[in-house]
Amino acid sequence: METYPETHLIIRGTEINYLFICPTKLWYFAKGITMEQESEWVDLGKFLHEKSYFGEEKDVKIGMISIDFIKKGDIIEVHEVKKGKSMEKAHEMQALYYLYYLKKLGINAKAILNYPKLRETREITLEGREEEVEKAIEEVEQIKSLSVPPKPVKTKKCKKCAYYELCWV
Ligand code: SF4
Repeated sequence: METYPETHLIIRGTEINYLFICPTKLWYFAKGITMEQESEWVDLGKFLHEKSYFGEEKDVKIGMISIDFIKKGDIIEVHEVKKGKSMEKAHEMQALYYLYYLKKLGINAKAILNYPKLRETREITLEGREEEVEKAIEEVEQIKSLSVPPKPVKTKKCKKCAYYELCWV
């Protein structure tokens, strides 16, 4: 069992998430640029989280990852609470990164994505997906190493993005 994550596991779950939303957004976030609107979305996420789930170990921070809550059973369940499915790929990859990170620490787990507004859950396992995670980690590192943000590409995600003004105004 390794005591610490490998050196390349110094990225945050949110960075993996943003890679699949928008590389420009990832770059701004990684450089510590935060905007007002971002915190409103975070607050909404926290509200949904606290309203819908009780009795679990919440907001578990392990190294660079911060898990919404964990359930301990035969196998550890890592739970993430999300508002909707429009960013489902990003949610999935973030959860896979958590499982990958935990595996490097010698912890086998599965992930559950919770969509309380939709009353849905989705189970995710790491089996056969490690290369995908490693590729995502490399892409995040490459984007973070850039001295200027990747050129923005306008999509429907931009309307709700905290960085809209930086890209388009
Ligand atoms: S406004 Fe659009 S292009 Fe700019 S960071 Fe946000 S999602 Fe990316």
